[in-house]
Amino acid sequence: MDRTKIADALGGESQGQEITIAGWVRTVRHSKGGFSFIALNDGSCFAQIQVVADNTLANYDSEILHLTAGCSVIASGKLVASEGKNQSVEIQSTEIRVIGKSDAEKYPIQPKRHSFEYLRTQGHLRSRTNTFGAVARVRNRICSAIHEFFQQRGFLYVHTPIITTSDCEGAGEQFNVTTLQMNDIPRNDDGGVDFSQDFFARPTYLTVSGQLEVEPYCCSLGDVYTFGPTFRAENSNTPRHLAEFWMVEPELAFADLQCDMDLAEAFLKHIFRAVLEDCREDMQFFNERIDKTVIETLTHVIESDFERVTYTKAIEILTQTDRKWEYPVEWGCDLQTEHERFLTEEVFNAPVILTDYPRGIKPFYMRCNDDKKTVAAMDVLVPKIGEIIGGSQREERLDVLLKRMEQCGMDISEYWWYIDLRKYGTIPHAGFGLGLERTVQFATGMANIRDVIPYPRTPRNAEF
Ligand code: ATP
Ligand code: MN
Repeated sequence: MDRTKIADALGGESQGQEITIAGWVRTVRHSKGGFSFIALNDGSCFAQIQVVADNTLANYDSEILHLTAGCSVIASGKLVASEGKNQSVEIQSTEIRVIGKSDAEKYPIQPKRHSFEYLRTQGHLRSRTNTFGAVARVRNRICSAIHEFFQQRGFLYVHTPIITTSDCEGAGEQFNVTTLQMNDIPRNDDGGVDFSQDFFARPTYLTVSGQLEVEPYCCSLGDVYTFGPTFRAENSNTPRHLAEFWMVEPELAFADLQCDMDLAEAFLKHIFRAVLEDCREDMQFFNERIDKTVIETLTHVIESDFERVTYTKAIEILTQTDRKWEYPVEWGCDLQTEHERFLTEEVFNAPVILTDYPRGIKPFYMRCNDDKKTVAAMDVLVPKIGEIIGGSQREERLDVLLKRMEQCGMDISEYWWYIDLRKYGTIPHAGFGLGLERTVQFATGMANIRDVIPYPRTPRNAEF
């Protein structure tokens, strides 16, 4: 079928021509004069196209008059200038084929406002609504902007494994991957699990980060990035945590923390510029209906120089304010979202890059600073979300790395390959991880991370 996308039809280029479009009915209005107006959406853009049907169509009485929200149709006709005030063009149809009927009363997406909670129970149909269509398009544009950014700069896209044997973050928040029978787990003599009988003959997990596996490619091919699903079995029921989410992780060769921060700043600006430029209609909608400040906030981020502040300085600020914290702060503790938001929203009124965190709260691979207390880490904080990026310069010195791994109580033999990189031509390198869903949240103003991924996985929930 030679189908014109509604986005292109509304673009007006084919005005005056016979075209065929296809999509799902959003609303239908029948007028007395033997006309019907069908608003059709095919997901290619936010707007509906108006299809005008008159009673000379063969199936007018039998089908058109019975169309309801949710029906799928293919319509052909001439694209003409519209006299209506809501659209510039419309289709004067000569044929409308009803492809799939829909039961008006039972259709879960009624033409009214549904709560996001309700729509989460309709994960298979919620992408037919304005909000979820717009989220999907913005998410798509963000992904293409991510690849664009790195490809333009000569970064190589590397696919790291989803099934892994290492625990990158060392936080013990991994999902096990096993084919052992839960109700008949083979045991060792000491009562432990006998993994030799498991599929991989060793414990394996869903990855929490592709970083450890992308570093070898950085230390051979230069600037690289990985972009894929990551998993965290953390029991955080927050509007910013998912058990399955997507992460982009660039790794820069011959680079220090400064390079890393510069890259992160340019990267976020590139993404938000792309969204503002290419998703205008969707962003207009988010700005009107979801968060009245979202366009302003994105514009502000694009125009701001990100503030760069040490963790130690941030702790000073947080302990000197009169503000009452739900989670108390002192040097050495991990910052909570309330602290992060305070810094970016109220103290600096700009995105903030916090650097040089205490060694004790960061993973083993981060490079130790000369003060022996902090590491060359950086987190990018943005309004409303808090942390959107976490990164660091990596420890490239063999002796320091080994000592650190020992201190962290790690099984060094498991990481022989990671350590090899420091034995054979080690280089300074740095990278970061950007959570895709936090980025979509920030760009759209959507309050809950469950509403910016098609099928959210969270504690006690894996529907669809
Ligand atoms: P947080 O403190 O917010 O849990 P984190 O310190 O665990 O984040 P990192 O391990 O540094 O995060 O991961 C890098 C990025 O991945 C984060 O900046 C964030 O954007 C994203 N991210 C981390 N955990 C999650 C999650 N559970 N769901 C969605 N995105 C996440
Ligand atoms: Mn976390």
